[in-house]
Amino acid sequence: MSYTSNPTKPSIYKEPGPILDNENPFESMMERFRFASEILNLDEGMFQYLSNPAKQVIVSVPVMMDSGKIQVFEGFRVLHNDVLGPTKGGIRYAPDVHLDEVKALAAWMTWKCAVVNVPYGGAKGGIRCNPKEMSQRELESMTRRYTASLLDILGPEKDIPAPDMNTNEQVMAWIMDTYSMHARSTQTAVVTGKPIILGGSKGRKEATGRGVVTVTLAGLNKLGIKANKATVAVQGFGNVGSISAKLMYEQGSKIIAISDISGAYYNASGIDIPAAMNYSALNKNSLEGFTGADKISNEELLELDCDVLIPAAKEDQISKKNASRIRAKIIAEGANGPVTANADKILDEKGIMVIPDILANAGGVTVSYFEWVQDRQGYFWTEERVNRRLIRMMREAFENTFAVAEKYNVTQRQAAYILAIDKVATTLRIRGIYA
Ligand code: NAD
Repeated sequence: MSYTSNPTKPSIYKEPGPILDNENPFESMMERFRFASEILNLDEGMFQYLSNPAKQVIVSVPVMMDSGKIQVFEGFRVLHNDVLGPTKGGIRYAPDVHLDEVKALAAWMTWKCAVVNVPYGGAKGGIRCNPKEMSQRELESMTRRYTASLLDILGPEKDIPAPDMNTNEQVMAWIMDTYSMHARSTQTAVVTGKPIILGGSKGRKEATGRGVVTVTLAGLNKLGIKANKATVAVQGFGNVGSISAKLMYEQGSKIIAISDISGAYYNASGIDIPAAMNYSALNKNSLEGFTGADKISNEELLELDCDVLIPAAKEDQISKKNASRIRAKIIAEGANGPVTANADKILDEKGIMVIPDILANAGGVTVSYFEWVQDRQGYFWTEERVNRRLIRMMREAFENTFAVAEKYNVTQRQAAYILAIDKVATTLRIRGIYA
């Protein structure tokens, strides 16, 4: 399958249904799931099985606030599918968390784990709250009560949370401690994304960016472009974006643009990424005022003429509005859902290789898996070993996906979904339906 020379290549991509007019990342994910199910000829029963979460839990979380008054928060945990192993997925704290979102994100985790061959099913959780207005003590109380309410479903062999939006290492430490108090023994493997001193893994912080770069290099190789000749634009300069930019820079690529919420920064001769990272760290994690490049808009960054575009900020950045103006040869999705389903078709027609989120940013969950393995072994790996094993798993996942794309003549995204759904469906058929 050629990504550069034959923009009108025949494809079995079907015209998307009307739901795609709603450019919502979760609807986009469901549309891709439906498409892959059709290719695999999933029967209606299997389609239903894989569309519906295995378990949905809603809990009321009462917290004694600093004011002395009780406030009750709504908490969720959804286990989408545990056919491949215990379920895994983040917990988010945000004012707009709701059950449908958590259900969709849980399914997303099932496919992500299956693509990279991590032996987990997918889950997600959240509490509807405004963490920015809460004290540390209130956050701790809320986290501990939520954990206590979910004791029956959590556990190293059952369901293993991780950080997500507005949750962090400290929140994972509180969950681990609460669970351990009830288990009457220290159970480090019940969460991942813990501080290293509590059983976290070396290399976890850089894992997602390292995974993005591993698949980007594999993609460049397929297109016959040398990394040290490639030009790269990166949207978002947080954990995923800055590490991806740094590792591409270390490969000798020219990083012509970076960005964050303050705007985008362009330098045709290449940006000094270590200097930009230093600047951002000393400037409250903002690139505002960075002088090593000219300021442009985030929209302009996306449309730059470059070999690699890494959207690593947020969802819905490339949609039918701007997809036709994208000039990158490879888009490696560091963020979740940065390309809408409508844009997929336009990018495919332009011959752009999109390395999908469920593959490109799965380095994080892969090293979370390593953290769980290390906790269970009680034996901790060097950072070099973590990175080596991560790179091996990401390369394998890229090659597996690429082979499926060639076999069915579909995009990398469609291939990743086909690979994941086929793996879960095949495992389920062999296990059978317990009645
Ligand atoms: P982060 O908060 O560390 O960084 C986000 C960056 O994006 C910041 O630099 C912010 O200023 C920038 N940003 C926000 N809105 C922007 C906009 N409109 N235009 C340009 N830049 C903007 O977050 P992160 O952990 O790096 O996560 C980024 C994305 O990657 C999210 O979609 C997240 O879900 C996804 N992801 C992260 C991980 C992980 O391990 N951190 C794993 C998988 C997926």
